[in-house]
Amino acid sequence: MSDERQVAQELFGSVKPIVPTGDHRVNLSKLSEALKEPDVVIPVFCTGCGYTTGLTQIGLDDVLSSNGLTESDSLKDHYFEVTGCPLCQGEYINPDLKKR
Ligand SMILES: [Zn+2]
Repeated sequence: MSDERQVAQELFGSVKPIVPTGDHRVNLSKLSEALKEPDVVIPVFCTGCGYTTGLTQIGLDDVLSSNGLTESDSLKDHYFEVTGCPLCQGEYINPDLKKR
């Protein structure tokens, strides 16, 4: 089980997975809210289910390494847009770094 999935499970318990309906639009104020959570280094928005979460450094390293990406200096003012997240797909899918 990935760290992300474990964290999601701890946070949300045994609730049923959210069904990804797709085509959600990012809400910039929710990205800012996600950044206020402890240890969050970058927000993540899921276009699949519309949920905004945040990655810790460990989560970020995991997403970067499992997608062949490297950490850039420009993470500040950026967020990841994914088409699936631990809540709806069990993991982050197609992370795309976007500017806020
Ligand atoms: Zn999702």
